[in-house]
Amino acid sequence: MTSAPKPRAACLIGWPAAHSRSPLIHHFWLRTLGIAGGYVIEAVPPDELQDFVFRLALRGFVGANVTIPHKERVLGLSKPDARARAVGAANTLWFADGELNATNTDVEGFINNLDASAPGWDKIDEALVLGAGGSARAVLFGLLERGIDRVHLVNRTRERAQALADAFGDKVHPAAWSDLGDRLPRAKLLVNTTSLGMRGQPPLELDIARLPADAVVADLVYVPLVTPLLAAAKARGLKTADGLGMLLHQAVRGFELWFGQRPQVTGELRELVEADLTGA
Ligand code: NAP
Repeated sequence: MTSAPKPRAACLIGWPAAHSRSPLIHHFWLRTLGIAGGYVIEAVPPDELQDFVFRLALRGFVGANVTIPHKERVLGLSKPDARARAVGAANTLWFADGELNATNTDVEGFINNLDASAPGWDKIDEALVLGAGGSARAVLFGLLERGIDRVHLVNRTRERAQALADAFGDKVHPAAWSDLGDRLPRAKLLVNTTSLGMRGQPPLELDIARLPADAVVADLVYVPLVTPLLAAAKARGLKTADGLGMLLHQAVRGFELWFGQRPQVTGELRELVEADLTGA
């Protein structure tokens, strides 16, 4: 007698298991692609992370997303690829040839969202990135991999911008927050990776009028969906790429690695997650 194969399942490992949109995204794709699979949230405290990851397959999972506070530690519990190592954090785990691999899909989430929202954005000499935290590392990796020659990196704590410049090489030019205004007129791409403009955080104050007329503006913040920065850029007629787009695009490869089909970021999926974010 043969038993029916168990549906493939992935999980999100975090602590606390914050309210995440990932189950909504992956369940949408499982449903629309007709795949019998699952995606669940697993609340894993730091002292149980190693055991949980080592027993991931025994627990019935084909892979996982990893979120705060485990994204850095999981590098030491898996085989990280070049992206995960350069970013210093992994958000996606999967098994291949009996090994647990790790990558960072924020890189392609950011780049693929720009490609979808502002095609041709990469025909630029200079970009300006605000922030030097975890997401800035993914953004820098993506911009340099795409061949952008000069990236100005402005951060409140200048030492952190310097540390990233040291890590990513001489195409990255660190600057103090007070230099921001002077960097705007040459920035054909402006990226906000700080938490400024997020609901409950101070606004991001900059003079959008100083950007070139053909600049593209990207904001990683997605609560609110249209940040004041994106609203000002749209009002000036600039092309924009928003944080929700990045969130959706970063989920694509994990799904493909776990369930074997490459899903699409569609308008229907976007509407579903938008409704969840806005409580509609
Ligand atoms: P992080 O590692 O904590 O870094 C936060 C950054 O914001 C740092 O550069 C910090 O500057 C800066 N910052 C915070 N408060 C500031 C203030 N009052 N004035 C000036 N700068 C300030 O955070 P992260 O993981 O990079 O995430 C940053 C944002 O991106 C969050 O809103 C997050 O939700 C969003 N995000 C979105 C996606 C997506 O898929 N759309 C993915 C990842 C992250 P200092 O170095 O001076 O502290």
